[in-house]
Amino acid sequence: MLTISTTVRPATDLGFLLHKHPDRVQEFGQSYGTARVFYPEAGEERCTAALMLDVDPVRLVRSRGRSTPDYALGQYVNDRPYAASSLLAVALADVFRTARTGRCDSRPELAAGPIPLEITLPVLPCRGGPEMAHRFFGPLGWTVEAQAVPLDEGFPEWGDSRYVRLSLRGEVRLADALNHLYVLLPVLDDAKHYWIAPDEVDKLIRAGESWLAAHPERSLITRRYLGRRWALARTAFARLAELGDDVEEDLEPPVEEDPATGPEPAAEVPPSMEPGGEPPAVPAGEAPGERDAAPRRPLNVLRREAVLGALAESGARSVIDLGCGSGQLVGALLGRPELTAVAGVDVSAQALAIAARRLKLDRMPDRQRERLRLFQGALTYTDDRFAGYDAAVLMEVVEHVDPPRLNALERVVFGAARPGQVIVTTPNAEYNVRYDFLEGMRHPDHRFEWTRAEFQAWAAGVCREYGYHVAFRPVGDDDPEVGPPTQMALFGRGSAANAGGGDD
Ligand code: SAH
Repeated sequence: MLTISTTVRPATDLGFLLHKHPDRVQEFGQSYGTARVFYPEAGEERCTAALMLDVDPVRLVRSRGRSTPDYALGQYVNDRPYAASSLLAVALADVFRTARTGRCDSRPELAAGPIPLEITLPVLPCRGGPEMAHRFFGPLGWTVEAQAVPLDEGFPEWGDSRYVRLSLRGEVRLADALNHLYVLLPVLDDAKHYWIAPDEVDKLIRAGESWLAAHPERSLITRRYLGRRWALARTAFARLAELGDDVEEDLEPPVEEDPATGPEPAAEVPPSMEPGGEPPAVPAGEAPGERDAAPRRPLNVLRREAVLGALAESGARSVIDLGCGSGQLVGALLGRPELTAVAGVDVSAQALAIAARRLKLDRMPDRQRERLRLFQGALTYTDDRFAGYDAAVLMEVVEHVDPPRLNALERVVFGAARPGQVIVTTPNAEYNVRYDFLEGMRHPDHRFEWTRAEFQAWAAGVCREYGYHVAFRPVGDDDPEVGPPTQMALFGRGSAANAGGGDD
């Protein structure tokens, strides 16, 4: 349940604004229950409208989409009938459809401007606790009161539940208030991770039009609103086009839960429940936008091409890919007949198994096989097998190494293996602001991400220590402000003066 009160005079004008008569109890059928609007008080000085949603758990189970995961008992026993979840937000959008647009022919001025409002939600699932409610509603001009609901009043030592009693007070335009609730209830609930229809993004943009872009928590709100479905994560990743670290993508199961907050409660709203919701245009699991977006060249492809180009320029005849992951670069290198020897090394046996499968190692013709060496090894330990190649590649690898171990890697690659050329690529941390959905680093296994200055300082140190010279190239769209998404360093052995033929 939620209530909306006002003290505008006459307060009963709230009925006009909401397009619901204060004298009546009105019912609105929903696919998972019944929504009712009624007025516990309706006076000149104060008027309160209540929206109460009666969730029918059996209908909730029946209306679940087939693609939603089956949480067994959880689909029958859950908090949805008792808490102000995303279901209430969906009901609010349906019942107050016109009010949410700000249209009110009989009281246009009242609908257009801020009025004194008080909104209460007695039981609101609030992931992250009362502080989250402050973070989300505070910047929108609300005075927020959020009290944690104890798990059991009889046992205070058990602590708080994940529910809060929320009250919002402020001078806010009613349509804005409804849109705040429509977006932020599921965001606070953070369980709305059903399959995301392509139009879900549009809904968010429309409801958040006047306030979301300037909200300090817009990134968290957007991410939570859209849920953590793998399909969405894939869209985000596709937009990031970053995880050229594709080995992790291959190795790791889709991440659905926030490891910090544990598993989600069961109930979800399938898209069929959304008022005016269209049937899925693309099958579940397919990322929205994958079909209609113009094909763009993913960053990992650009990166591979940049590395191959630099190798071709250097005239290297043999190449070792250090931290080869699932072997995409190794495959491309094998396709270059001028290379007499190609090697791939990785610390992960699983990555190597994927690489062997991808390269069809078991069916590879002998002549090809003789050019290739694929083996397990750690780049932080000197290894004779790393030596003897014209060029070495460290593509998106250094950022996976703990900073205290980086010295060891430098010694192993630049000090011991000492190839004539070393190509290093790594994310440019400055570019991360261009990724809408990104919080923190680009990949959970990254130990650091360097700015351009940090990368260049590191490279300069390596040159001093081991007698190399270095040049830098951008990979991907070179943003005038923050630089390219990937930065690449081309190291040559010896000083720059005798580059191109010199040796030490
Ligand atoms: N170069 C590939 C993979 C990058 S992901 C690409 O660009 O697609 C980083 C890879 O480095 C992983 O496969 C990981 O297993 C490997 N790696 C990380 N630390 C390593 C170490 N100390 N020794 C060898 N490989 C390592």
